[in-house]
Amino acid sequence: MTDRNPKLLIEANGVSKQFANGTQALKNVSLTVERGEVLCIIGPSGSGKSTLLRTLNALEEISEGDIQVNGHSVHNRKVDLNRLRTQVGMVFQQFNLFPHMTALENVMLAPLKVLKQPEAEVRARAEQLLAKVGLADKAQSHPAQLSGGQQQRVAIARALAMKPSIMLFDEPTSALDPEMVGEVLEVMKALALEGMTMCVVTHEMGFARAVAHRVLFMDHGEIVYQDAPAAFFDAPRNERLKTFLGQIL
Ligand code: ADP
Ligand code: MG
Repeated sequence: MTDRNPKLLIEANGVSKQFANGTQALKNVSLTVERGEVLCIIGPSGSGKSTLLRTLNALEEISEGDIQVNGHSVHNRKVDLNRLRTQVGMVFQQFNLFPHMTALENVMLAPLKVLKQPEAEVRARAEQLLAKVGLADKAQSHPAQLSGGQQQRVAIARALAMKPSIMLFDEPTSALDPEMVGEVLEVMKALALEGMTMCVVTHEMGFARAVAHRVLFMDHGEIVYQDAPAAFFDAPRNERLKTFLGQIL
């Protein structure tokens, strides 16, 4: 038994990731996320943000280090990946909905097939979740009939259907037309206010400033700096972050 802080939902220690082609995407990254905490991750393209998120639910293997989610070592060969992935919801830039299924069927699929929950229960909860993301009237629509913003909200409902203990978002609004960004961010903000633990990779600095408890800056595979949003944006004590913010703000 190791000493563990039960408040920590994620505890990553000394994580490095080298891809087969030699790219060092993560260098000795350590990260903790407390229950109920909203973390935003920003940084230039190629800095390792997606790789970091993907290692947290074992979509990507790691070369060195250790990651605990809910007290379970994610990269232990004995870990039950299905169980892990029910605990860690993920929303991607591309919504990845099943095109031949309705919105409701997309949200129902994993609880039915993976958790094998009773259909009536799953349906009722899926309807509730679609209502929660503002899409009660789109339950029977197929993805192609929905706007990008609506599809991303279905993707969020689908992730929530597994009752995850943490939600990971990888640039959830980057593929959207500008007029649809707000509706997705509103749904995410509401989730945060309900106390959902969240890690959000985003370029939406207004969202990070308003919603995050902590903002983290990655560059060249390292976590270079982290701070509360006000200090992070208004008085960053790091030259690389200052340069980055100067380029984007
Ligand atoms: P970000 O999300 O911050 O843009 P990524 O995590 O996607 O960065 O990528 C980090 C680095 O790892 C980049 O140099 C990228 O080219 C590289 N990389 C990402 N995925 C792979 C892969 N499957 N194989 C080889 N290199 C990869
Ligand atoms: Mg990325």
